[in-house]
Amino acid sequence: MKETFKPKYELTMYNSLTREKQVFQSLIAGRVGMYVCGPTVYNEVHLGNCRTFVSFDLIYRYLLFLGYKIRYVRNITDVGHLVGDVDTGEEGKIAKQARLEQLEPMEVVQKYTNLFKSVLGQLNNLPPSIEPTATGHIIEQIEMVQQILDNGYGYETNGSVYFDTQKLITEEDIYGNLSGKKQDDLLTETRDDLKNQSEKRHASDFAIWIKAGEHDIMKWSSPWSVGFPGWHLECSAMSTKYLGKEFDIHGGGMDLQFPHHENEIAQNVGACGCQPVRYWMHTNMLELNGKKMSKSTGNSILPAELFAGSNAILSKAYSPMAVRFFMLQAHYRSVLNITEKGLADAEKAYTKLLEAYHTLQQLKHTGEAQPTEDDDQINKLLDMAFDAMNDDFNTAMALAKLNVIIPKIKALHKGRLAITAISEATLDRMKEVFHTFIFDIFGLVDEAGANTASDSTGGDTSNLVDEVMQVVLQLRQAAKDQKDWTTSDLIRDQLQAIGVTVKDGKEGATWSKKD
Ligand code: AMP
Ligand code: ZN
Repeated sequence: MKETFKPKYELTMYNSLTREKQVFQSLIAGRVGMYVCGPTVYNEVHLGNCRTFVSFDLIYRYLLFLGYKIRYVRNITDVGHLVGDVDTGEEGKIAKQARLEQLEPMEVVQKYTNLFKSVLGQLNNLPPSIEPTATGHIIEQIEMVQQILDNGYGYETNGSVYFDTQKLITEEDIYGNLSGKKQDDLLTETRDDLKNQSEKRHASDFAIWIKAGEHDIMKWSSPWSVGFPGWHLECSAMSTKYLGKEFDIHGGGMDLQFPHHENEIAQNVGACGCQPVRYWMHTNMLELNGKKMSKSTGNSILPAELFAGSNAILSKAYSPMAVRFFMLQAHYRSVLNITEKGLADAEKAYTKLLEAYHTLQQLKHTGEAQPTEDDDQINKLLDMAFDAMNDDFNTAMALAKLNVIIPKIKALHKGRLAITAISEATLDRMKEVFHTFIFDIFGLVDEAGANTASDSTGGDTSNLVDEVMQVVLQLRQAAKDQKDWTTSDLIRDQLQAIGVTVKDGKEGATWSKKD
């Protein structure tokens, strides 16, 4: 029987290739293949890099919430544009860092890979399903170069292999569409700064295999020379290997549109004969002092400096969740400028949201409900929060809608608004939706735990209990997914026996405890 799948909501997303918002339809019902370009690991990631990875974590989390099974691949660039310049003798980035730190090159790679994962862990990013390295996929990259040559899209000069962009530009009108570059720009483009221009037939051609020079420490045998793959090749080879010739989503920062992603498309068309990606997604830049945060210009802040308050622009430390909250207050396609005031405001808003959440969880419905317009308003705002997410993952708007509900939670708590003004179903829905948004969709962690509760009636909703209950509910869900009804019912009944009621709702299961 054909698999039927209906996501919780219909999702629209902006596709950088078509330059319009499109309703998302995955290639295979209920499944999503997503590839995001990962970090270059020769030094620490800065906060700008983190913005891109947090944005894709939010996208990943929302797709999970909608019910998709996702294979999320994010590579580690440990070769490619990290190598030196054969002609000028310029030292490669990894080699240079190894010399400076007196480490083996692979120690440099491991050290900064570990640091990268640890920072993203602090920011509560979920790990991808596969995290392949470029150096672990040299064979696949050599095979792809060969396919490109066999299909007539490449040529070899002095042991290096170049992608011939001419055919894609003039005959097939494929090259330049993602970045919006015009033919003339492309033909005079000289971005491939790795190699002697005289080896290329056209200025826009780019290297897919590079013959190593004496300064290059990372090199492999190939049919053309002892050398290394061009930077763009790893993502084409690894996305094809793990997600297929055609897959759903490819992401990265906007600065990767050209040349990196444009060249990825060219390579896939050249090797596999088809456009690889259905939806291209690009995040906008994090700026500092009105300029793109960047390693090379020195205009950057490291996450560790922010968490420790040790950067000169900061008067104090900001926790990982304040930083994550700061990021989700902006839509991923907007520029975000980091300032101390912005961080301080985010910190306050994060605390306010968590306090409201704890207050909400303590509210109990009593008496005969006579729903007023507040009931209606709350339900509309909750709907609008989801509408915002379904409209190209607008976390900023979703958050704004939840924020409008916060004064009502306070009013209900203080008795200024009678609990009977809303129905029990609305109260339950508020609890469920706030929980889902804060922890599952926004991926926030309650850093202050029970201390953030605005009211200290009873310790039942302490942070630890909340977290343990989430684990229990996840185990129950796993049992349900396996159709193991005995276990899922047993968990529910045992919880009921200790006064904990589990309710299954559209947005997931929630729990409440009777006094
Ligand atoms: P890199 O390690 O330089 O290859 O960058 C890793 C990811 O961070 C890429 O997707 C870049 O587009 C992204 N990135 C780099 N700088 C910024 C920035 N200032 N703001 C947002 N994303 C960035
Ligand atoms: Zn890439």
